[in-house]
Parts: sequence; C-alpha cells; structure tokens
Amino acid sequence: MTTKYIFFTGGVVSSVGKGVTAAAVGRLLKDRGFAVAVQKLDPYINVDPGTMSPYQHGEVFVLDDGAETDLDLGHYERFIDVRLNRVCNITTGQVYAEVISKERRGDYLGGTIQVIPHITNEIKRRITQVTRTTGAELVLVEVGGTVGDIESLPFLEAIRQLRSDLGRENTFYVHVTWLPYIGATAELKTKPTQHSVRELRSIGISPDMIVARSDYPVDQGMVEKIALFCDVEKRAVVPMVTTPILYEVPLLLENAKVGDFILQRLGLEARQLPEWSQWERLIGEIRRPKPSVKVALVGKYVELHDAYISVREALKHAAMHLGVEIDISWVHSAELEKGRGWDQIEDVDGIIVPGGFGSRGIEGKIQAAGFARKGNVPYLGLCLGMQLMVVEFARDVLKNDLVNSTEFERSTPHPVIALMPDQQGITDMGGTMRLGLYPCHLVTGTISAEAYGQPVVQERHRHRFEFNNAYREVLEQHGMRFSGLSPDGRLVEIAEIEGHPFMVGTQFHPEFLSRPNRPHPLFTRFLQAVCERSGVVTQKSEPVA
Ligand code: GLN
Repeated sequence: MTTKYIFFTGGVVSSVGKGVTAAAVGRLLKDRGFAVAVQKLDPYINVDPGTMSPYQHGEVFVLDDGAETDLDLGHYERFIDVRLNRVCNITTGQVYAEVISKERRGDYLGGTIQVIPHITNEIKRRITQVTRTTGAELVLVEVGGTVGDIESLPFLEAIRQLRSDLGRENTFYVHVTWLPYIGATAELKTKPTQHSVRELRSIGISPDMIVARSDYPVDQGMVEKIALFCDVEKRAVVPMVTTPILYEVPLLLENAKVGDFILQRLGLEARQLPEWSQWERLIGEIRRPKPSVKVALVGKYVELHDAYISVREALKHAAMHLGVEIDISWVHSAELEKGRGWDQIEDVDGIIVPGGFGSRGIEGKIQAAGFARKGNVPYLGLCLGMQLMVVEFARDVLKNDLVNSTEFERSTPHPVIALMPDQQGITDMGGTMRLGLYPCHLVTGTISAEAYGQPVVQERHRHRFEFNNAYREVLEQHGMRFSGLSPDGRLVEIAEIEGHPFMVGTQFHPEFLSRPNRPHPLFTRFLQAVCERSGVVTQKSEPVA
C-alpha cells in the first residue's frame, strides 16, 4: 500500500502533550492492523540531544541503533510497543550538516543553496526515509515546537509541500492546541486556538483535525465553536481533558473515534478491530487502590522529573504488574553529600541510582549505595548507578577512599571504572560512547539470570566508561558477582552483591525497553525485593502481548 503520513503540529503553548497524542494515535492505528512508525522533527540546531543538559531537554532516549533522541521517542515506543531507529528523530542541525557537506563536495553543481528548496528537500527526504527503514505503512510525524516559532518554519513548509507531492488522500494534519481557562469568568477560551489555526493556514496548512487540550471538561458548544471558526468538521474536533493517567490517552482518543476518522479520511479500512480489553485492564489496575511502596531516586536533575522519565515509567510498569503503587522520593545527591535529605533515604524500601555524567553529586550517590549495601536495602544502579555501586564496594574492600572512576578522578590509585584501553586518547564529546543495543550473557545462579529467565539478552547502552577488569578477581573474592558479561567475557554488563536481598547494577539502561504491558524483569525483580522489605503482598499479573 502507498505510505500515508499523519502530521502533528502544536499550537498556543508547548508542553501540552503533542508527543503523547501522536504516540496514542499510533497505538490506535497499529491496533487496526497497520505497520506504524513515528518520527519527531526537532527544530534546534544541535545534531542530536546527546550533548544537551537534561535541564534543557529532559532525558535522552536511546534507540537500538544507538541514536540519542528526544524523550518523545520513549513515549512512542512505550505506547505503540515498537522499536524505532535513527531516522525517527531529525533535527535542524542534522539537516543543515547534510546540506552543507553536500555543498562542500560540490554536489549542487554551483547552485545557490537556499532554505527552499534545499533544506526543505532534505527534510522531505528524511521524512520519506522512515518507510524504507522501518517498513511502516503509516508514518506519524510530530513537528517539535509551536506554530509561530521561527525555527520550525522549514519543517512546516516541508510538510506543507508533502501534501501536494504525495496527494491529499495520503496526508492528514492534526493540530494539537490548548484551551486556557479564565478563572474570573470560569470559562475556557478558544481564541488562542483560532489564532494558531490562522497562523498555520497562513503558511498553507489546513488542519484536518484539532485536538483541543484542556484542564477542564469541554462542552459540545465549545467543540462546535472550534469547528466553525477553524473550519474543520465537528467530529474532527477532539477535546482532550488532562488525565493523571498517561496511558489512558489512547482510550480517550478511541472513544472520540479518532482512529476510525483518520483511516476514513485516508481512504483506508481497518484490517482488524482494536482489542482494548488488556489495555483497559491496565488502566483499571492503575486506578485500583493499592498498597504503596516507597523508592528513592537519587540523582542530580531530580527537580526535573522529565530527566528520568523512562526510569519513572519503568518503575510504574513494574508496580502495575505487581499490583502495588509506587511512590518515588526524588532525592538530590548533592544534598546527601552535605548531610541533608537522609531522612528521605531512611524512609524508603528501595534505592535507584540512575544514569548521569559529570562529577556533581557523585559522592552523595556513592553514599546512597553504601547505605543500601550495609542496610540490606534493595538497590538498582543504572549505568552510572552501577559504576558507583562498584566504586563504593571497592572502597570498602580495598580500604581506600581514593578508589574512583577515572571520569571523576583521573589520578585515582584504584581506577575501578575506567576507559577501555582502545578508548584512550578519544577526547571528542559527541559520538564517542558505547551506544545502542549490545548482547549480554547472563551467569547462571545469579539474581539477574533468575530475573531474566533466559541466557542471553540485548540491552541499550549509553556510556563511555567501563568496569576495569584488573579488579574483577579481588572484588569477586569479597562477594561481588559479575552476573552479566559481553559475549567475549571482556566487558562487565551487570554486577551484583552476593547475599544482599537485591543489589544489582547494570552498565546498560534497562529502562528504555520497559513497556506498560511488558515490564522489564530487573525492575520487576527490584520492586519485588522492595515489597518484601516493606511487607507489602504483591499480586503478580501475567505480562500481556
Ligand atoms: N558517565 C558514565 C559513563 O560515561 C555513565 C553514563 C550513564 O550513566 N549513562 O560511562
């Protein structure tokens, strides 16, 4: 079948859930029997978000092929249960880098290089690449930013052109806007939506559907008004009231008949009826009052929960599966160093130290790992969290507080975490990491092997430093188990502490592969240990397809 494209633009303000909307629409279409992929167009000039501060950008989501992408790709993968690739996130930086390198090679034969057509052609080329690399029949494309931004204009122009390039019947435009609530008169306002649609029209795009986000219920009168002023069909105005349960969004859109409407407008018929019973069971499970367990997440970007969004979601997935509520205590590691915030740690039944870069707050995380080890508190270390768990343990074994990772102390006498010999001398910050999917062989008889229940797994990485093999023997003698190794045995992928209820650190990021319907086994096993410690009885449900 000819590939069809569904474009998502945002109006009025940012952060209204355009990414979640696109992800949820993807789910509706996949459940109707189509191969779906989603692509995010990011207007910033960075080549990828890999070098951006999480304060600027939130989490960097890593794909199988090692692409460092926008956190919206995480929503897409979790909602639709697909595996995306590098072409699914493009940035202005990538587009310009490509066009400029072609120009330097002389590919344009002396032509003057301009935004239209050269930049827009490159954008279109990358949009149409998604089908070729993923096999998707329906490609959903989310344009980052808000209509009216200077930065996103070339992207909007490119998707405008695609309607005439590919045909009206092969393109569909969804505009996601926000209805502000005026407290004084207690009413929602449609004017900003009207303006943003006008702005979109002025650049040649007429939306086929408007998703009107709001914190308050939207009545039929309001829907009719938007339809009239924005010139879309009434049934194409979809009010979407804020829900505390993210995973409910596909059900809300299903009830609004969004999937059927889009297919009809694209001249398609559903190949199968969507089966929502399992998803509904999931939502029912989230709603059901459940006993709650408390876990501390010790990081340095804790003010911004989006910096750890996949970790939070993975915890939620595991909690849903075990029939418990998860209460995350966000602990700033730099505070721990100053002796503050320890009451938060003492109050929990599990500790997670997630990934991170740079030395701020490192000692606080090491202390948190020490607290977990000595107090038998379940601990899950993700990447940096694994490395610091090793540092803490080695300091104890070697009776030397100078033990460190060379990332934080280059001249440490005991570099238990260091660059591999073949990495030394690399100084470039972009693209020098071990990125993406790598196999990991599990060592039988370990907690990790038991949790996974299979001998070999593939997990996503994003790090520069590795466990230093010179310390394997001595740490093993004192009770550290290297429960996951690269196929050649050279790289330590998982470390755990023998005799501890659950102290496991992974060099990779398991959180990226967790799904609401398929929680990650290490998160589930961690949370099980947390529940045991807090005396909460779990009710395990079977993972669903
Ligand atoms: N900074 C560490 C490294 O580069 C850990 C990275 C991470 O936690 N993702 O190896």
